[in-house]
Amino acid sequence: MIIGSHVHFNNEQLLGSTKEAISYGANAFMIYTGAPQNTIRSEISKKWTSDAIELMKQNNIELNNVICHAPYIINLANKEKIDAWNFSISFLKKEISRCEEMGIKYIVLHPGSSVKLTTEEGINNIIEALNFVIDDNDKCMVILETMAGKGSECGKTLEEIKTILDGVKSNNIGICLDTCHLNDSGVDMNHFDDYLDNFDKIIGVNKIKCVHVNDSKNPLASHKDRHENIGLGHIGFETLLKIVNNTRLKNVPKILETPYVSKSDNDKELSYPPYKFEIDMLKKGKFNNNLIADIRDYYK
Ligand code: FE
Ligand code: FE
Ligand code: ZN
Repeated sequence: MIIGSHVHFNNEQLLGSTKEAISYGANAFMIYTGAPQNTIRSEISKKWTSDAIELMKQNNIELNNVICHAPYIINLANKEKIDAWNFSISFLKKEISRCEEMGIKYIVLHPGSSVKLTTEEGINNIIEALNFVIDDNDKCMVILETMAGKGSECGKTLEEIKTILDGVKSNNIGICLDTCHLNDSGVDMNHFDDYLDNFDKIIGVNKIKCVHVNDSKNPLASHKDRHENIGLGHIGFETLLKIVNNTRLKNVPKILETPYVSKSDNDKELSYPPYKFEIDMLKKGKFNNNLIADIRDYYK
C-alpha cells in the first residue's frame, strides 16, 4: 500500500518532510512548498533536496509518490479581478518549477471557486488559465482535486471535471480524488466501485494520480468539506479501508489530510498528528478503538 499524509516543509524543506513522513511509517507524503494560505516562498535548497532524496531511497519512499499541493489562494475560476487571476496563473507556474527543482511529479490543485460568476463561467476561466499554465513538456503534472461543492467551488461533479479536462489542450493533466470531498459532494462511498466504473467511462481511471483519504464530519451531500479522523466520521473505517485497498488504485499514493488531535477533550488547540496511528490502522486493516487516546499517549 502506498500511503502517507501531508507533512511540513518549513524545517529543512524536503529533508524535514521526509523525516516527518518516516516518523509516521509512511512511504508517500504530500507537502505545501510554503504556507498554504500565502505565497511567501523560500529558495529551494539543493543540499536539502539531495539529502532528502538519499533518505527516501534508504526508506523505500519513491519520489513518484511525493505530491505537492498548490496553495488555496490560487483561484483560476474567477476572473472578475484580472490582476488576481493573472497572479494565480503566474504563481502556479512558479510552483510547478519549484516542484521540478525537487523532482516532484504531481501538484494537486483545487480547480477554483467562481464566486459571483456562474459555474459555467468559472469553468471556462479555469480552462483558459490551465491552457496558459500547462505545458506538454512540464515534468510536474497538475492534478485537479474533486471538490465538496462548498460555496461556489467548481469541480464537484464528474461532469464538471470532464468539461475542464476536455477544454485543456494538453494531456499533461490528472485527477486527485478526495474521499471527504466526494462524500460531501454526494457520492456514496459505500458504492465506490460504481463511482470508479463511472469515472472510468467518463474520464478513465488511469487519470487518477493521487487519493486524499479523509473521513468526513458531515453526512452525504452536505457540501461542507470538514475532514474527520479515519473511522470517526460519516464514511467510516470499513469503507475507507476498501478504498485504500482497491486494486484499481493500487499504484496510486493515498494521502491522509485528517485533523490533528487536541491534548485533551477540553482543549481546543489541535496539537498532535494522527497519521502514524491512522496509517497503522489502514495497513493492519483493523480499526483502533483507542485511536485518540493512543495518539495523546504517544505524543505527550
Ligand atoms: Fe486539497
Ligand atoms: Fe484533499
Ligand atoms: Zn478538503
